[in-house]
Amino acid sequence: MNFHVLTLFPDMIRDGFQTSITGRAVEKGLLSLETVNIRDFSVNKHNRVDDYPYGGGAGMVMQAEPVCLAFESVAAKLSRKPRVLYMSPQGKVFDQRMAEELAQEEELIFLCGHYEGIDERVLEEIVTDEISIGDYVLTGGELPALVIMDAVSRLLNGVLHNEESAEFDSFHDNLLEYPQYSRPEEWRGKKVPPILLSGHPANVERWRREQSLIRTRERRPDLLETANLTREDKKFLAKLEEL
Ligand code: SAM
Repeated sequence: MNFHVLTLFPDMIRDGFQTSITGRAVEKGLLSLETVNIRDFSVNKHNRVDDYPYGGGAGMVMQAEPVCLAFESVAAKLSRKPRVLYMSPQGKVFDQRMAEELAQEEELIFLCGHYEGIDERVLEEIVTDEISIGDYVLTGGELPALVIMDAVSRLLNGVLHNEESAEFDSFHDNLLEYPQYSRPEEWRGKKVPPILLSGHPANVERWRREQSLIRTRERRPDLLETANLTREDKKFLAKLEEL
């Protein structure tokens, strides 16, 4: 997977991405990160890339031409037209399913806006997907791009040490993950649930599944409507309803 990020703040993207698990994945060559500074494509002698909005109003708007030139500098190197993801509070709200779908791509271009956003005309020309990370407004698209790149990266083969980790995370099957415990067995008077020390893998698995169902029902009942539930899961949930 190759990520290309069009941004006015490349350091923010590099610093955020090249640490911890994603940084290790870059070092191992499992994915690559290219940042493209939109300011390098300014068509203004003062190196500006923003201007006042037509029609008046507050703030500045990123101009179409530098954004388009930055995009073309990446697209010219690629054999196929890649997906261009514009980070936008007006886009489709990002979720685990979208992360799984994006993880199938070879190349992804992220476009990060700033100020009041980007001239609509260039968005119409180059953007294939508008994606939001939630119903709130941030100062720029860099944090959303990092969030999406992180969620996509950990789904790629070899990025996580234990291949099973992603498989049982929250949102797999559209359920929240069960609670986790580590050593010591007793911490400040609180004990690890005895079943986890029982040494019976089948019982542990069933307990974890039930905990997932309980958590999802309590915290995110909306997810249950589209969750992948077995007959046993449904029976367990029906029993909870009777309590
Ligand atoms: N004026 C725009 C509007 O009301 O839709 C908001 C612009 S925002 C201040 C500047 C940039 O931050 C946007 O162009 C976008 O790239 C990014 N951004 C802000 N909030 C976001 C969110 N929730 N999800 C994704 N990107 C966001």
